[in-house]
Amino acid sequence: MNSGFRHSHSLGQNFLTDGNLLSAIASDSGLTADSIAVEVGAGMGALTEKLAETGARIYAYEIDTRLEEYLRPLENKYPNLTVILGDFMKSELPFGRSYRAVANLPYYITTPVLFRFLEDERCRSVTVMVQAEVAERIIAPPGGKDYGALSVAAQLAGKARITRRVGRHMFTPPPNVDSAVVHIEKTGEAASDGVKRLVRAAFSMRRKTLVNCLTANGYGKAEVLSALAAEGLDPAVRGERLSPDAFVRLAERLKNGV
Ligand code: SAM
Repeated sequence: MNSGFRHSHSLGQNFLTDGNLLSAIASDSGLTADSIAVEVGAGMGALTEKLAETGARIYAYEIDTRLEEYLRPLENKYPNLTVILGDFMKSELPFGRSYRAVANLPYYITTPVLFRFLEDERCRSVTVMVQAEVAERIIAPPGGKDYGALSVAAQLAGKARITRRVGRHMFTPPPNVDSAVVHIEKTGEAASDGVKRLVRAAFSMRRKTLVNCLTANGYGKAEVLSALAAEGLDPAVRGERLSPDAFVRLAERLKNGV
């Protein structure tokens, strides 16, 4: 299929070809004919075509202009498909309605793309192929080594689950790690700036207490200690012990000086 195409490792070009897997990802995304979908990294268009077949309005981004010759014929075949050649992270979406995000994400920008979708209130759901280790972080409960800023952001935004695990051999060329598809159906509101700042600070130093992390990031010690006490939390607690909701409550107390 790859007809001499030289895959770019730095652009995360690990393509999928298995029709059943591609159909399963399209089905995990929950697209219907009246949905709008944004795909990041169309590649040769294998997933793009499955998404277009749902009848949904698809906007597919691809940064590598060498792939235009594979993507334009698809655009001609599916009137509901728009291919946008460019860097997704530097592009504004060309519509204002709510949409679903679907992608086999390039590894090197997984986190910023995820945060963009999690923080965009128009995004209703996120269905993405990511490295297995990132999938574990997204769904991790508080207390473990995988729990961090991404877990809190994803779990505040909605319900996150792994829909399927995908071995590295399913990709061309195969990467060094296995992957998984994660679906996040958004139910919550995007985290406020106060929550985002708090979570960033809480996970800034993994082995330190929450008080130390927060004071090192500009929060007043007395305010932090009294907010922790008001929440019934141990002054020596670490950030990874706090549930996503506990972060929201703590941010509220720190904002109000309680
Ligand atoms: N969707 C295809 C598939 O499943 O076979 C390709 C997925 S491949 C993992 C990721 C794709 O994202 C590559 O084609 C790469 O060129 C593209 N890409 C990388 N960075 C990008 C960016 N900033 N904006 C848009 N596309 C990007």
